[in-house]
Amino acid sequence: MSRFWSPFVKDLVPYVPGEQPKLDNLIKLNTNENPYGPSPEVVEAIRGQLDASLRLYPAPNADQLKEQIARYYGVTAAQVFVGNGSDEVLAHIFHGLFQHGRPVLMPDISYSFYPVYCGLYGIEAKALPLAEDFSIRPEDYQGENGGIIFPNPNAPTGMLLPLAGIEQILQANPDSVVVVDEAYIDFGGETAVALVDRYPNLLVTQTLSKSRSLAGLRVGLAVGHPDLIEALERIKNSFNSYPLDRLAIVGATAAFADQAYFEQTRQAVISSRDALTKGLVERGFQVLPSAANFVLARHPGYDAAELAAGLRAQRVIVRHFRQPRIEQFLRITVGTPEQNQALLLALDTLID
Ligand SMILES: *Cc1c(COP(=O)(O)O)cnc(C)c1O
Repeated sequence: MSRFWSPFVKDLVPYVPGEQPKLDNLIKLNTNENPYGPSPEVVEAIRGQLDASLRLYPAPNADQLKEQIARYYGVTAAQVFVGNGSDEVLAHIFHGLFQHGRPVLMPDISYSFYPVYCGLYGIEAKALPLAEDFSIRPEDYQGENGGIIFPNPNAPTGMLLPLAGIEQILQANPDSVVVVDEAYIDFGGETAVALVDRYPNLLVTQTLSKSRSLAGLRVGLAVGHPDLIEALERIKNSFNSYPLDRLAIVGATAAFADQAYFEQTRQAVISSRDALTKGLVERGFQVLPSAANFVLARHPGYDAAELAAGLRAQRVIVRHFRQPRIEQFLRITVGTPEQNQALLLALDTLID
């Protein structure tokens, strides 16, 4: 009944998330979730909130969580924005900071939600090709633009751009907001939050979905100059006053408080990634150098779609993007050592 739709809706091209299959006993290595559960203190905090207080609205500005995040990163609470997953934070960024009638620059191989937000908000997306080795070339990010966004480490390549490259982009674009989407930074990079006091045009986003094992709780954040945060608050308060519920606020706050658990699971994922990379290379795969909790890998002798199908037949799910330049690659989330071993054994049945 599309005659009831607002006209622009028929032209929307929505994002397609990796599947969440309902089957049991799957080795699920397709959506970059953390193989470990959240900190027990997170679960405890959420349990402690399960009472009659749920009849009350949550704190509209989630101040308790913002203060915890501000302490963690050594910034002020006025430099912190929180939202219902970093996807929502990103939507508000496109809406509130990127609509200038000029194209927004992003890598050609990058998070596929960015062009979707461009479509939603009527922004032109300008995709800049990654180098031959799939790295971001900072010198390409210049010229007239309405904003710049890229993940660091990039997704789905996993490759890290050092802070010097980010500074080069910031300095070349003093009149644009530069957004560094650090969904995976805790698995191998240095956060650009250290630069926000020097660059009023820098906005760093992060999520609790990956390194803090809370994809199901939906909490994301941005750190930047208070003027940028103010724009996001205006959008948020014109859209949904309570994006974080009471459980999300206490759970996310507890996650940032339990540094020991964070460190332990983060290191476990990093060493699993290195072991998985080694296992793939031993089997003839080319694996891009990853600073994330996934690897992008291709086997020169086998078709990626067929490998993905062969793995699926053995209940191992990985992600395959039918997209130029990477259609022969598989994106494999780093699992536990046991899950990674099961993946490698399944691959052994498919390759010589
Ligand atoms: C996972 C991911 C996000 C979204 O995270 P949520 O907080 O779960 O919405 C954002 N950007 C990139 C690059 C991601 O991989």
